[in-house]
Order: sequence, then C-alpha cells, then structure tokens
Amino acid sequence: VLSEAQDSDFFYFVQQVTDTSMSEAQDFDFFYFVQQWPGSYCDTSQSCCYPTTGKPPSDFGIHGLWPNYKNGSYPSYCDPDNPYDESEISDLISSMQENWASLSCPSNNGSTFWSHEWEKHGTCSESVLDQHGYFQAALKLKSKVDLLQILQSAGINPDGRNYTVSVIASAIRDGIGYTPWIACNVDVAGNRQLYEVYVCVDTSGSSLIECPVFPQGDGKCTSSVEFPAF
Ligand code: 5GP
Ligand code: 5GP
Ligand code: 5GP
Repeated sequence: VLSEAQDSDFFYFVQQVTDTSMSEAQDFDFFYFVQQWPGSYCDTSQSCCYPTTGKPPSDFGIHGLWPNYKNGSYPSYCDPDNPYDESEISDLISSMQENWASLSCPSNNGSTFWSHEWEKHGTCSESVLDQHGYFQAALKLKSKVDLLQILQSAGINPDGRNYTVSVIASAIRDGIGYTPWIACNVDVAGNRQLYEVYVCVDTSGSSLIECPVFPQGDGKCTSSVEFPAF
C-alpha cells in the first residue's frame, strides 16, 4: 500500500511539472492583430488629437497585437515586473509613429498608447516575444496586411460613402487569404462606420491563420457602413 501511494504521488508530481512548464511555455492560443481606421476614431463625438509628431498617414494604423484563448477569453496585464521600456525599441520608434499612431487626446507622442498595449497585452506573450520582438512583429504584420491597398484595389475607398460589410470582409479575405472580423463605431451624425479590422496570427506572431474564434459581440456594424475620409 505504501509503495502504491508513493507511485501515484510521483506520477501526480510529474503531471504537475509538465502542466506548469507547458503553460509557461505559451499561455495563449493565438493573437488578434487589430488595425484601426483613424478617420473613424476621429469623427466620433469623443473626437481625437493628432500626435505631437504630426498627423499620421491616411492609412490604417495598428491598434494592437493581442494574445487570446481559443475559448474567446484573453489574458491581460500578465507581468508587472516587465514594464514598458522605450529604450529597447528605439530603432522602431519612427516606424511606430507612422504605423502605430496614437490619436487619443490630449495630443501626445504615442508612448502612453504603446506602453498600455505592451503592459496589457504584450506581457502575456513575453514567453514568445520580448518587447522588441513584440513591437517588431506587429510592424511586420502591418506591412503584410495592407488593408487600405486591398480595399482600394477592390474599389472600396475612404470617401465617406457606404459599403456593405460583407463586401468589405470578402475583399480582405480575398486579399490576405483569411477571413477577417470587422468592428464598427458611430460618427457624430450617428452613422455606423468601419472602425477596426481583426485578423488572427499564430503564437509566433508571424503567420496569419484562420481565427479559432471571433471576438465576443457582433462588432456593432450595420449591413452597410460608412468609410470616412481621414
Ligand atoms: P485597449 O485597452 O482598448 O487595447 O486600448 C485602448 C487604450 O489606448 C485606451 O485607453 C485609449 O485611450 C488608448 N489609446 C491611445 N491612443 C489610441 C488610439 O489611437 N486608438 C485607440 N483605440 N486607443 C488609443
Ligand atoms: P480608455 O479608457 O481605455 O482610454 O478608452 C476607452 C474608450 O474610449 C476606448 O474605446 C478608446 O479608444 C476611447 N478613447 C479614449 N480616448 C479617446 C479620444 O481622445 N478620442 C476618441 N475618439 N476615443 C477615445
Ligand atoms: P472594446 O470594449 O473597446 O471593444 O475593447 C476594449 C479593450 O479590451 C481593447 O482595446 C482590448 O484591449 C481589449 N479587448 C477587447 N476585446 C478583446 C478580445 O477579443 N481579445 C483581447 N485579447 N482583447 C480584447
């Protein structure tokens, strides 16, 4: 009886060690890579402020690269001991200003937004990507998923006209080979508009994948939505 107890204790111990090392190896299932249309952030009742470094390009910008679980939930603020350190990404800052602009008020240089994204989301993938790797992965994904070029090639332009969400989503799917998820918000006049595009990325942060699950909620779009100018 004694030796049986010791055996089962031992196997229980092995199981615990295995579970712990696996969860630490990679405690999320995939990323959402989220881009935002600046025109739709700025024409809301909350308005926006251009960065101190100047008006960003008339192009989609990065909102974030978010670790997620395939059951739809997600981790956040995973490591308070690994705060944002801009000195680790000094070589990326000019590209971030162009591709990951912060449009919140008051006008700022972007560091608050990047710091928030790293601390809320990036720390949850730190077993795979360090800070430099995390921001670099997002910038590479942005150049791979050129939404404005894809949409414009399909005749969908930021001209203040309305476009069908299913047509927008199909154009993006045809352009990147994977089905995106579209989120909308509301402009000052109350019109639903194209705000964010989500695509899914494998745990390395480099390859697009089909989304294991789409975000909770319906994205708040109507069947046809405005694509405002910026
Ligand atoms: P989330 O937690 O929603 O990923 O990040 C949004 C946070 O980043 C909010 O606190 C928001 O004020 C801030 N933020 C700063 N600049 C921007 C921006 O350009 N777009 C968005 N969506 N949020 C921004
Ligand atoms: P947070 O509290 O997380 O800063 O922001 C809450 C919500 O308000 C987010 O959806 C964020 O994007 C939005 N938000 C925060 N600041 C601004 C702003 O200056 N302009 C706009 N349009 N939205 C903002
Ligand atoms: P909102 O409520 O404006 O859609 O989202 C607010 C913030 O919650 C986002 O900026 C993001 O930080 C986080 N968030 C919302 N939905 C998701 C999601 O499906 N996955 C992850 N990882 N984060 C999300």
